[in-house]
Amino acid sequence: MVDSKREPVKVAVIGSGLAGLTSAYLLSHHEQFEPHIFEKGEKLGMDASSISVGSKDKFRIDVPMRSFMSGYYSHLFRLYKHLKISFIPAKFSFGWYRIQAPFNNTNTETPTTEGKKNTRESLYIATDQATFKTVNESHLTYSGSRTIGMLEPPESRATSFTEYLYDLYMSCWKLYVVAISYLWLMGMSLWLYHRGHLKNRNHVIYRMTLGDWFKRNKFHPYFIHDIFVPLFAAVCTNSWKSMLDYPVVDVLEYMAMGLFQESYVVSGGVRHIVDRLSSPLQHVHLQTCIVSMKPSSKPGYKLELQDASGQIHHFHHVIFATQGNQALNILQQCQSHLVHCNEKDQTLYKDIESASDILRQFRYDKAIVVNHTDTRLLPSNPKCWRSLNLASLDPSVQLSAKNDVTIPFPHDTTMTTHILTMTHHTNHVLKEYLGGDDIYMQTTNPCVSPLPEKILSKAWFERATVTLTSKKAIFDGLFTPLDNADTGSLVLGRCQGNSGIWFVGSYCWPGIPLLEGCVASSEKVVLEGIAQVEDITMNTPW
Ligand SMILES: Cc1cc2nc3c(=O)[nH]c(=O)nc-3n(C[C@H](O)[C@H](O)[C@H](O)COP(=O)(O)OP(=O)(O)OC[C@H]3O[C@@H](n4cnc5c(N)ncnc54)[C@H](O)[C@@H]3O)c2cc1C
Repeated sequence: MVDSKREPVKVAVIGSGLAGLTSAYLLSHHEQFEPHIFEKGEKLGMDASSISVGSKDKFRIDVPMRSFMSGYYSHLFRLYKHLKISFIPAKFSFGWYRIQAPFNNTNTETPTTEGKKNTRESLYIATDQATFKTVNESHLTYSGSRTIGMLEPPESRATSFTEYLYDLYMSCWKLYVVAISYLWLMGMSLWLYHRGHLKNRNHVIYRMTLGDWFKRNKFHPYFIHDIFVPLFAAVCTNSWKSMLDYPVVDVLEYMAMGLFQESYVVSGGVRHIVDRLSSPLQHVHLQTCIVSMKPSSKPGYKLELQDASGQIHHFHHVIFATQGNQALNILQQCQSHLVHCNEKDQTLYKDIESASDILRQFRYDKAIVVNHTDTRLLPSNPKCWRSLNLASLDPSVQLSAKNDVTIPFPHDTTMTTHILTMTHHTNHVLKEYLGGDDIYMQTTNPCVSPLPEKILSKAWFERATVTLTSKKAIFDGLFTPLDNADTGSLVLGRCQGNSGIWFVGSYCWPGIPLLEGCVASSEKVVLEGIAQVEDITMNTPW
């Protein structure tokens, strides 16, 4: 019910990724609220970097990948169903390979089995030349469903019987190590998950990183460093170092909840989500970068925001739906204005200080996503191409010059190339709308660069990497467990809502920062935070 005597409650939402859009959409469900969304980019954030290729605008490529799976994404599923979004299964298969210097061998035949002879000489080469000189040697592939599938070693290219026997031995050894390690890991994930240990802050595992846990359980280095960490570094778009520092409970929970689940993508791209979430919004401010915040000078309002053009906007509440480090910049700006503040503004100063202490605990890794048609980034042998191709840059390749389409830490991350037509775009769509035989690919974190003429788009992102410290910060300040030991049910944390300031986003929700956290954190802040403070009864519309 609208209270006609009451002024509308003006709420600023800074950022239009999924978290900002969901918050504004929820607020728009009650007439008493007047949500204003601010986005520094030209387009709404969630779909801003996606592209359409080919005729009729039909071949849509989401940037970055926006896949989700049943099991882990309960809030997102409910939102998408409410929005009547259709989604389609995305069949993922995986291939692991190494980008290496060729063998130092005058023989024209290039040996393919790793470890046979250590005769690779180091290759010092400019990043954009690397694909001309390197070989991409596959060492394992996996095809099938998410959980049950077939592991295959690469085909032997042995030229003698001894080499063939050696290849066979290596293949059997790899399959054995990976299969046993995976089963052991899955078994432990399920056991720990169903016993409730992954949500129990008093359990010893809660204080362990993935690296510590692997060491303690004596997992084989091949499984850790060549298979599992590269795969999860691709899921989390983090460096390998960040991955080994991840809280193990978050990784095991993802594994346990993903068992026998299907992956999906939105049919036709996430632009449909953006359209539906933004359709009820009346105050969308694009190309409006918020640069500072102050106590409001207008009676009745709490906060004023200043945008880059100098315009001032007054609000009762401000939701930060940016990444944590971007929110921190604005808060620090605000705090520096308040250093010599009067007593009235002391509370705001202190509230910003405690929120900033929490936001400082989050770390970010840079990520770049490049859409292209350069197949030289894939394994050299096309039989080893899978829908997700996970490459590691071998230390034998030293890149001598940086380039703006490659990641700054090429030896510490996975270059993931998604062959788009192998998951959810069928060959029929390809032929009908694109013509030609180009293979469309999306590479995340290239360590070697595609040919410039084959690049369709590039976009840089920052992704929060979870650490034991950042996880603690979430529970300390943003979303706090109802029961100190069990993190299963959460309430708003002590830094939410003070002086009208709120935080949402994938980074501030426990677990791997994914689309799920955007929706879950927005629901909590709007329905259990702002609505309650304003004494407005609201239910989730989904
Ligand atoms: C390469 C990559 C692949 C990924 N793949 C998946 C996946 O397959 N599935 C999945 O679930 N998740 C995936 N994620 C994670 C997921 O995309 C993000 O966690 C999620 O999109 C974050 O949404 P958000 O709303 O919290 O923040 P963001 O999407 O970062 O939105 C923040 C917005 O705030 C704007 N902004 C910042 N500062 C200001 C300012 N001062 N004024 C105005 N506007 C501002 C920004 O321009 C931006 O639009 C991936 C992430 C990356 C980087």
